[in-house]
Amino acid sequence: MDFQKLADLYEELENTSSGNAMREILSKFFKEVPPEDIAMVAYLTLGQIDSEYEGLVLGMAEKSVLKAISTAGGIEQSKVKTIMEKEGDVGLTAEIVLKKKPQTLVPLGKLTVPELFEKLHKITKLTGSGSQEAKTNTLASMLQKSSAKGARYIARITLGTLRMGVGDMTVLDSLAIAFTDDKKNKEILEKAYNICPDVGVIAETLAKKGIKGIEKIDISVGRPIKMMLAQRVKELKDIKEKIPGEMAVEGKYDGERVQAHKSKGKITLFSRRLDNITAQFPDVVKYLEKNIEAKDFVVEGEIIAVDEEGRPLHFQKLMQRKRKTDIEEYVKKVPVQVKLFDLLYYNSRSFLHEPYSKRTEKLQKIVKKNQHIMTADRLDTDDLSELNKFFKEMLHEKYEGVIVKGMDSEYQAGTRGWNWIKWKKEYVKEMIDTFDLVVVGAFYGKGKRKGTYGALLCAGYNEKDDTFETVCKLGTGLTDEALAELPEKFEKYKLEKKPARLTIKKEMEPDVWLSPHFVVEVLAAEITESPYHSLGLALRFPRFIRFREKKPEQATTTKEIKEMR
Ligand code: ATP
Repeated sequence: MDFQKLADLYEELENTSSGNAMREILSKFFKEVPPEDIAMVAYLTLGQIDSEYEGLVLGMAEKSVLKAISTAGGIEQSKVKTIMEKEGDVGLTAEIVLKKKPQTLVPLGKLTVPELFEKLHKITKLTGSGSQEAKTNTLASMLQKSSAKGARYIARITLGTLRMGVGDMTVLDSLAIAFTDDKKNKEILEKAYNICPDVGVIAETLAKKGIKGIEKIDISVGRPIKMMLAQRVKELKDIKEKIPGEMAVEGKYDGERVQAHKSKGKITLFSRRLDNITAQFPDVVKYLEKNIEAKDFVVEGEIIAVDEEGRPLHFQKLMQRKRKTDIEEYVKKVPVQVKLFDLLYYNSRSFLHEPYSKRTEKLQKIVKKNQHIMTADRLDTDDLSELNKFFKEMLHEKYEGVIVKGMDSEYQAGTRGWNWIKWKKEYVKEMIDTFDLVVVGAFYGKGKRKGTYGALLCAGYNEKDDTFETVCKLGTGLTDEALAELPEKFEKYKLEKKPARLTIKKEMEPDVWLSPHFVVEVLAAEITESPYHSLGLALRFPRFIRFREKKPEQATTTKEIKEMR
């Protein structure tokens, strides 16, 4: 497929400010894409060059991209820099420069989608001395073969700033519309996506094999599975209503969720966001290698920071392990423990549809337990007072609370259902729980906060409609230091107009729109009705706790907020 077609599509999407219109445009387009190109088109439309969990990085700074633009356009770098300073966007800069391209520079043929894709992948593989120049030249060669409009998007894809408001769910919905007539099929697609969160694979399977092919998608060890999540209840007794039979009550640990895959002798660790975090935890890899004997497996657990005696430390301590350098030093400085709580695959066999009792029975059998790696603390009971006693024990151990699990429940990938219910110490103190909200805009500060932002506009995620709905304006809890960092932090995510998938009331329109990217944890005192927020509800006395490493689609859902009221 000619890349020009994709550039035309991107321009149309860029000018669209409604999610529904976006889906319509995309589905029409998908119908015309040759099946062998559809995975590439799906990734590129998300501004990616592969599935996110592959973690590929192009490693090009703005300066190198501007250099490539100057080479491709045949004009001096200083002039390109001046245009960039005026436009503030590398895409528009590329477009302007290439429009001015001297006639003597003959176009070098047409850029196709596979060629663009292949060259972008080539850029990720270039390392070492001379690699920056080689990357710049490769990019310049693509720009030379594209139109000025195409250059706008190639430059943005390279710098990771192609933000058209399209998310994974938008692509899935559009694929469902394009390739199946039945609405029911959307559910099948979502189910497959939860086990295989790779839009490229889903798009290609659907285009080549239809919905039957999608139904056959199963675990592939080494490819992350979307994690099963826990619901919350207001009162302890509500747990019994949701899980009437025997309950498995496990300790709830305050660390980092991990999904570990072993395949062909290699262990890969995935975070809750499904990022590859193997390099950060060589110690965890070693513990898993040594203490689970198996050809292949997928297990889940929580990594927690511990002191010398193996007692749990606060989550903040573990965050020191989020680093790219001095890893071995920090393995010693911040030792960790792994508490395993689930098994999804073992020796060529999927356990996804097995009940919890069977999955954990197998897990118990295959893990050699020691002070570094163990299974979650657990009590099996059908009695609420027993549950409460165990909960208090867990608090005494400095854990966060408990997670109650249905004994017969299967692993529902990517689902926050009633088979897992969390019960935390905050609930008992009658405090309302925290919310993870998406920042979709910001208001300029006044007085002491002049020069930065004074408040953030926050939204919950409406899973059903794939939209974001505003629920609070957040100003409290941000320290002066945190505030001072905001302008720089937000710069790359500023948008000229409302993000396409955001619904908002006129009264709440912010000074600056932000592309949904940042997720903040917010504590609130109450949920009240509100005519000003598009959710119809507002959080009262919201307080900033911290930025969270979550994707916007992993934020607290609007349904959850409604249910908590
Ligand atoms: P979520 O991950 O559900 O979106 P969150 O990150 O805000 O939400 P909580 O809602 O407080 O966290 O709790 C769920 C998380 O608790 C899980 O994702 C997991 O990381 C952690 N956890 C700790 N202990 C367990 C356990 N025994 N079983 C399942 N999850 C556990």
